[in-house]
Amino acid sequence: MQIIKPWVEVPAIDGIKLMKNLERAAKQCYRTQGNIKDDSYDHFLRNCINRGHESVLEHEKITVRLKCDIGAYKDLTRHRHASFSIESTRYCNYSKEKFGNEIAFIEPCNMETDAVYEMWKNCMENIEQCYIKMAKEGALPDQLRMILPHSTAAEVVMTANIREWRHLLSLRADSHTHPSIQQLMIPLLLYFKKEMPALFDAVPYNEQFDSKKYAEIKLI
Ligand SMILES: Cc1cc2nc3c(=O)[nH]c(=O)nc-3n(C[C@H](O)[C@H](O)[C@H](O)COP(=O)(O)OP(=O)(O)OC[C@H]3O[C@@H](n4cnc5c(N)ncnc54)[C@H](O)[C@@H]3O)c2cc1C
Repeated sequence: MQIIKPWVEVPAIDGIKLMKNLERAAKQCYRTQGNIKDDSYDHFLRNCINRGHESVLEHEKITVRLKCDIGAYKDLTRHRHASFSIESTRYCNYSKEKFGNEIAFIEPCNMETDAVYEMWKNCMENIEQCYIKMAKEGALPDQLRMILPHSTAAEVVMTANIREWRHLLSLRADSHTHPSIQQLMIPLLLYFKKEMPALFDAVPYNEQFDSKKYAEIKLI
C-alpha cells in the first residue's frame, strides 16, 4: 500500500501572451484591434469581467494533470464545461506488476487526530488485502473496483477554458467544499492569480485554509 500526497501538474503559462490573445479576440466585437497597446489587455479584460462580457474568456483554455483521490475528481467532474480523461478503475488492475501490486491512496488532509488517522489507515490496509485476495481468486477489475474507497489515488487530465476555470475555482477554492478539493484548487488558483492577474484577481478563495496542506504545483 502506498500513501501519497496529491499534486497538480501545470504547463508553465505565458500569462501575458494568453491575456493579449483574449484582448485581440474580444476587440473584434468593437473592431478596435488597432487600439491595442503593450499593456492595454489588463484594463480591457478587467472591464469585460466587471460588465459580465465573459464569453470572450472562452477563447483560451488550460489543461492540468492532477493526482487526487476519487472523491475529489467526483466533485470536479460535475463541471459540465470542463473536459476530463481519468484513469479507469475498470481497466487498471492494481494487483498487477505495472502498479507495483498495490493500491495507492491519497493521504487525507482532514484527519487531525492520530486515532482517526490510524483507523483510516487500517481500513485502507484491509481493503488492499481484500483486493489482492479477490484478484488472486480471479476477480476482474470490474468486480475489484466495487471495493475501492474515495481515498483511492487516480490521475486526471482536465481541460477548461478561462471562463470555466474562473467559475469552477470560485466554487471549489471556497471553504464550503471538501478539504481535499480546496487542497488542490487553492494553490492552482494562486498560480493563476500570479500569472494572469487581470483574469483571476477577483476570484475569491478560502484564505483560512492551512497553506501547509496545499498540494504541490509542478510546473512543466
Ligand atoms: C459547496 C458545494 C456543495 C455541493 N453539494 C452538492 C450535493 O450535495 N449534491 C449534488 O448533487 N451536487 C452538489 N454540488 C454540485 C453543484 O450543484 C454543481 O453541480 C457543481 O458545482 C457544478 O457547478 P455548476 O452547475 O455551476 O457549473 P458548471 O457545470 O461548471 O457550469 C457552469 C455554468 O454554466 C451554466 N449551466 C451549465 N449547465 C446548465 C444547464 N443545464 N442549465 C442552465 N445553466 C447551465 C450555469 O450558469 C453554471 O453555473 C455542490 C457544489 C458545491 C460547490
